[in-house]
Amino acid sequence: MTSDRDTRIQQAADLIAGSRRLVAFTGAGISTESGIPDFRSPGGIWTRFDPDDFTIDRFLSSEDSRRKQWRLFGDGLLSDKAEPNLAHLAIAELYRLGKLDCVITQNIDNLHQKAGVPDERVFELHGNMRWAVCLDCGRRYAFAEITVRLAGGEEIPHCLDCRGMLKPDIVMFGEQLPVRTLEEAARRSMAADVFLAIGSTLTVYPAALMPQYAVQAGGKLILVNLTETPLDRRADVLLPFMAGETMQAVVEAVRTRLAE
Ligand code: ZN
Repeated sequence: MTSDRDTRIQQAADLIAGSRRLVAFTGAGISTESGIPDFRSPGGIWTRFDPDDFTIDRFLSSEDSRRKQWRLFGDGLLSDKAEPNLAHLAIAELYRLGKLDCVITQNIDNLHQKAGVPDERVFELHGNMRWAVCLDCGRRYAFAEITVRLAGGEEIPHCLDCRGMLKPDIVMFGEQLPVRTLEEAARRSMAADVFLAIGSTLTVYPAALMPQYAVQAGGKLILVNLTETPLDRRADVLLPFMAGETMQAVVEAVRTRLAE
């Protein structure tokens, strides 16, 4: 007997196997299974710290705020220890099967690339924690290098070339999203015939516009998220289950379809 869940997984696999331009879209929910906390959830970091201390304005204007923020970044807030989980690996497998146009992500954790999706196929709306950038000369530093400097006692790291202010290359509260990335993500969402959203509540804007663009342009929508989203009623397939095992099952079924 097939369960409702199995039926939905087959439906998702049918859509993906038959797609010509599949766009995957991911939020914090895909990475919680890799042990990365969703910062906004209970027990998340913003229950221990005041988010107002972490706005771009404060970072730029207050040395005290910069010191606090760097302490937190150096303390493992931007740790690179996490590993991709089954959901990241499933998306990378779709890429290897030739079924993935790109991943658009709200995450900064680099796990799609770690799983095997090439950098140029990952559009990071909120930046990537692998890098810090000099706000004056633009020099980029591997974040790991900065972590070493912080551990060595530097409280507020500066650019080694120009002494300019360094900032993690992530989008902070109150900061504009990277314009070109946002435009390219929007363009690809509109061109998608199947849009697969995983682990996003679809409530953080402008990221949440992407699935709307896809649906408005006639794309099919597959939603994998444990909790309700504002787009549930527009979804062609709704999978309110854990991302890892669900995506693994979907990709297995896609592989079977493609082999038929
Ligand atoms: Zn510099």
